[in-house]
Amino acid sequence: MNEHKFYYFLHIQILLLIVWSLLTGLGYTILCYVFDMAPFTLIWFGAIIAVSAWGWELYRQFKYVTINKKKLKKWYQYVQLFIYSIFGLWTVLFILYSDITEHNLNQVTVLIQVTASILAATFLFSDKKLFIPVLLILIYPLVVYFINLDETKGYFLAFFTLALLGFLLYASNNGYKLIQQIFHQAQQDSLTGLYNRRHFMENLDQLLKTLKESKKFSFILLIDLDHFKNINDTLGHDVGDKLLCEISNRLNTFCGDSKHVARLGGDEFMITSYPYDNYDECLKSADIFSHEIGRLLKEMYVIDFNHIHISVSIGVKLLDSTLSNSIQVVKEADIAMYEVKSSGRDGVVNFNKALSSKISNTLEMERKLYFALEHDEIELYYQPQVNKDGLICGCEVLTRWYNPDLGMVAPLEFIKIAEKTGLIIDLGNYILEESFKSLQTWEKKEHSLEQLSINISVKQLLHESFIKRIEYLFNKYLSEKSQHKIVFEITETLLAEDIHNVISIMKKVKNLGIQFSLDDFGTGYSSLNYVREIPIDELKIDKSFVRTLGENKSDEMMLKTIFTLADIFNLRVVAEGIETDTQFEILKAHNCNLFQGYYFDKPLKKDDFEIKLFKQKVKKVKIEMGKKKILNKKHIG
Ligand code: C2E
Ligand code: CA
Ligand code: CA
Repeated sequence: MNEHKFYYFLHIQILLLIVWSLLTGLGYTILCYVFDMAPFTLIWFGAIIAVSAWGWELYRQFKYVTINKKKLKKWYQYVQLFIYSIFGLWTVLFILYSDITEHNLNQVTVLIQVTASILAATFLFSDKKLFIPVLLILIYPLVVYFINLDETKGYFLAFFTLALLGFLLYASNNGYKLIQQIFHQAQQDSLTGLYNRRHFMENLDQLLKTLKESKKFSFILLIDLDHFKNINDTLGHDVGDKLLCEISNRLNTFCGDSKHVARLGGDEFMITSYPYDNYDECLKSADIFSHEIGRLLKEMYVIDFNHIHISVSIGVKLLDSTLSNSIQVVKEADIAMYEVKSSGRDGVVNFNKALSSKISNTLEMERKLYFALEHDEIELYYQPQVNKDGLICGCEVLTRWYNPDLGMVAPLEFIKIAEKTGLIIDLGNYILEESFKSLQTWEKKEHSLEQLSINISVKQLLHESFIKRIEYLFNKYLSEKSQHKIVFEITETLLAEDIHNVISIMKKVKNLGIQFSLDDFGTGYSSLNYVREIPIDELKIDKSFVRTLGENKSDEMMLKTIFTLADIFNLRVVAEGIETDTQFEILKAHNCNLFQGYYFDKPLKKDDFEIKLFKQKVKKVKIEMGKKKILNKKHIG
């Protein structure tokens, strides 16, 4: 067994053994002094002190060796030798004094020898290589001694001593097995056999302490597989598990004894390097090593006849003597790893000051967003959606956050933060309520809108209170007719969730009369399968796609496919981000249902949107009146 935890345990046992040997040895020496038999015993006690001093040195060395497997093994061999020596000394004492019957000293010696055996069984049960030889060293002379008494009593005692040996071996072995199992479970990841998070953190704590004392340098790597979920979803969890095992094997083989490899859970792995004397050397090694790991893991995997290619995102954090908080250190490696993810995955980033200030800006924003609702800093804008005649039929609700210190913060920025912090629930509820209120006002004023689209984030949709909240707000603000005008825009981020659960929630929402639109369509991985499976009513073609319309033929083909798809599944199509006449014309030619973009209007404040609706109504009335006049004239004529 070569687990670190085992060494920690052994480490403490060294101290206990030293204390016991010194105290008992001292007692014995004093006893012998009283009975005028000191010289011999003094030499023996001197030996005990010397071996204890060596043990103390081994005890002290422990923290310097734990982070290097080779050194740890060497240390363990010395500890073995120390333990054999100290118990050996007790046996020497026994052999020397066992036939001294004066003052019953022989009985004291026997007693000590038996005690030492019991102690050995309890102190050393974590390792078979220790307790078996030590018990034999201690008990064998006892048995011989009893047999040599040549009395019935002696034979009896010899028999009982052998029975004691059997008993102690059995008990220690049981304890040994149990502790093996517990160590195993507590430190190893059951799937891959690598160290687990807990062990990794303990090791990191130890490493930071060592760096502090030795003023050395080191680094950690946080490795996260890119799109691992896709593999699980498409090839099944079995293949996913086998892939994780294969990756673990590659990492273990590549790192050998020089690094500590752990799996933190899921598809996250962590590697700790052992110390370097010099910063530049450490930095260079971290750079070379992390790129090598990236290449190694990118090589093809063949699992159950599947050829799998994956890439990884790696965050690197350099360690030095100034650091002491292991949680913070891991967090910074995590920040670096996320930086790789957000800049397109498949790469390596070292944690640095700029990243750290980026994070503190986010934290500042997080803190301010917390009060945004309270301080009335959130406002809803409405972007018109028009039909092919340019008449406003609906609108999309787009949220704005204006903070006095930060200025206008883009929704793409603060929605992400709100999702991460859980504030999206309160914020989402506020957006729902304000949107419903607006629709209620417009309905009262008889501005005829056909639909009102609201962006809903996954976190919000999956929150337990979501449906109840909508029911409550529906009752409070909207008639049944208006309720059917509500459209929830969702994105493919839903794919990352348990799809069955998502579908079941969506169905409940649809039962309330609400429709669903699949936002940003054409950007991510929207597969045919996905469109077929989830209960949507509308596809919303993404603006990035609309932007290049008319520029090349493949776009037109793509557009054709989208509209055919919509046709097959009987879905409405809305195009967003229309900025030019050409884009509008092309989309119209494909019978797109609704159009949204700066070409018609930017997102408008509530009052401005209402003015638009009012003007449109007046225009409609005028047209109606014009039509009536013409009819009347004809009639009269
Ligand atoms: P989205 O849902 O794709 O919203 C469309 C975005 O495109 C809006 O940006 C809108 O202002 C912009 N846009 C509209 N027409 C044009 C155009 O012709 N050209 C260009 N270049 N852009 C156009 P915005 O308002 O910055 O919102 C960005 C994203 O933030 C939204 O993308 C949506 O994902 C999210 N978001 C906005 N409001 C909310 C909300 O209330 N809740 C949630 N969950 N997300 C929201
Ligand atoms: Ca949207
Ligand atoms: Ca969109």
